[in-house]
Amino acid sequence: MIKKRVFSGTRATGRLHLGNYFGAVKGYIALQENPDFECIYMAVDLHTITTPFDHHGLARATRDIILDYLAAGLDPAKAIITAQSLVPEHAYLAFLFSSVMTVARMQHLPTFKDKVKQHPEHVTMALLNYPVLMAADILAYKADLVPAGIDQEPHLEITREVARKMNELYATNFPLTQRFSTKNQAIPSLTGEGKMSKSMQGSFINLTDDLGTIKKSLALVTTDSGKGIELPLKGSVANLLSFVEIFQGKDVRIQYEKAYLDMGIRYGELKENLAKAIYKELKPIQEKRIELENKPDYVDNIIEEGAQKAREIAGKTLQEVKEKMGLIK
Ligand code: ADP
Repeated sequence: MIKKRVFSGTRATGRLHLGNYFGAVKGYIALQENPDFECIYMAVDLHTITTPFDHHGLARATRDIILDYLAAGLDPAKAIITAQSLVPEHAYLAFLFSSVMTVARMQHLPTFKDKVKQHPEHVTMALLNYPVLMAADILAYKADLVPAGIDQEPHLEITREVARKMNELYATNFPLTQRFSTKNQAIPSLTGEGKMSKSMQGSFINLTDDLGTIKKSLALVTTDSGKGIELPLKGSVANLLSFVEIFQGKDVRIQYEKAYLDMGIRYGELKENLAKAIYKELKPIQEKRIELENKPDYVDNIIEEGAQKAREIAGKTLQEVKEKMGLIK
């Protein structure tokens, strides 16, 4: 039986946070457990250099993402796990694919416009080409599914556009890749605005945060008087209750909502209990991570073997594309 392929990646710009964990990694794990799928998961370090980055810390950050992946439950016996830059076929394919996408199309993407606002001094060719590189990551494996948060949908549209154009122009057989969504596909920011993201200070809780750090992060979440006359709650208070639902269950959320309309919510107590519930879920991941940190050779091996397996598949795709595009043999 031909297995369906799955690809996904995380940029090496920090530790994994709860948004990455619920929006993406939970989906990675669900798919790796399904024998119908062959899964490839990477720390996508080439994507990291599309915005300002620290070249002294990049290799470390890439390894950190892979350690977080393994600690969270990715299994090298069930999935290919490695770093993107060890598979040079991605960058090569990205260049070939960039020949079917126009500059105007790429400039119009909302994600590009956001990054231009964030880093007006750093609007590079690499940034513009980010979604084409992502298309190459996915199509190198002819992946049918990408487990990712809802924020990645505009990029997946570009991947499908690249696939359609390549198929039309050069008779390739790229699939029209779909997103695989998890139950919690959009984890909100602790600040009350937008999504939890590494690039937004104060917005995130990392998988490696200890109880004290989680408490401090929650302490900074702005709240109201605790009493109101109507639901639903708004802003950062609404986000706190989303976290309550994820970590303590819907019933606890409903109790807080009732309290809000009645005698009031005591936020100090809510935050204390929530911090404990979050830490309870993260503790086993952190213990596993410490174990892995003490086995660097084991981790190196996973990364190397993963790169080899990935190159075998991506190399075939690259060869096929080069031939179909008429490049010299
Ligand atoms: P960040 O925005 O923190 O830099 P990435 O862009 O590296 O995160 O995203 C890695 C994966 O995690 C992607 O699949 C993305 O959709 C998912 N993800 C990131 N933030 C969230 C979030 N707040 N909620 C759900 N999924 C998220």
